[in-house]
Amino acid sequence: MRAVVLRGFGEAPKLEEVERPAHAPSGHALVEVKSAGVCYRDLLVTQGKFPRARLPVVLGHEYSGRVLEVNGESDIEEGDLITGLIHTICDSCEYCLTQRENLCANKRAYGETVDGTFSEVAVVDLKSSVKVPEGVSPEAASIASCVVGMLLYGIRDVGEANRGDRVLVTGAGGGVGIHAVQVARAIGCKVIAVTRSESKAEEIRRVGAHEVIVGSAFSDEVRKLWNGVDIAVECVGEPTFNESMRSLRVGGRIVLIGNVTVGTFPLPLGLVILKGLSVRGVVGSTLANLREALEMMARGEVRPVVRTLRLEEFGQAFEALKSGSALGRFVLRP
Ligand SMILES: [Zn+2]
Repeated sequence: MRAVVLRGFGEAPKLEEVERPAHAPSGHALVEVKSAGVCYRDLLVTQGKFPRARLPVVLGHEYSGRVLEVNGESDIEEGDLITGLIHTICDSCEYCLTQRENLCANKRAYGETVDGTFSEVAVVDLKSSVKVPEGVSPEAASIASCVVGMLLYGIRDVGEANRGDRVLVTGAGGGVGIHAVQVARAIGCKVIAVTRSESKAEEIRRVGAHEVIVGSAFSDEVRKLWNGVDIAVECVGEPTFNESMRSLRVGGRIVLIGNVTVGTFPLPLGLVILKGLSVRGVVGSTLANLREALEMMARGEVRPVVRTLRLEEFGQAFEALKSGSALGRFVLRP
């Protein structure tokens, strides 16, 4: 079968013919991958920014797939369309036992420490997988965990967003940002979106942003328009962090989701103290968030903005992520 394999950090991943897994190991399912989302994290893995990755590895952690074989206790059956978290879970650590599976102490990440989903057939963990409800396409399902579920977790649960809160989204034209606008709207927030590309502004408005600012210096305008925001959903990281901090009202929160440069940032401690700000990191999605994300997409509250490529076209998605030209999420169809 064909799969996208990374053999060395700093090298380009390649489409290769690899051996198809014969059976699902205990506790796992074998799936025919229907759709696999391409994430900035995949790009960072190729660049060696996740040094715990084991090589060679099949890339990819976002997926939906049709179940070919089940090996273990589960309500999942052969023939089901399923999706899952971006990693395995142990279901027995203090985090899993308190429904914070995204923080599982023993997780193994697809496309990093175990083979991933840019492949015709993949092995996935039964415990971190769920059935896809009626009315959700395989493409939508493949971004339910790392994008929509993660945003529910980040904006509502970690960021404590409530109806009526003012929310800023940076990188709003990207695969995460364009869905962050929609998730914040679904929670009932007012959304101000920032993008560097004029060409993406219209689509960002169309998915529900109340205001769109084009450019990299945006805090003055955010304060002028809305007197600042309660929550900044930081999808870019270090390049926009300072402007996001300066966009916050007193008591505001930065929800830190992306950091494209993997860079550091000198936190202005005085500003954090005097304005009572907080910076909160967000990783992954819980199983409850994933199920809720799927239901939201089934109800049409979040409409996936995806562009489908064939597996062999994965390079186009990586190039678009590098240049920042991607509008929405690329998904691969093996
Ligand atoms: Zn991802």
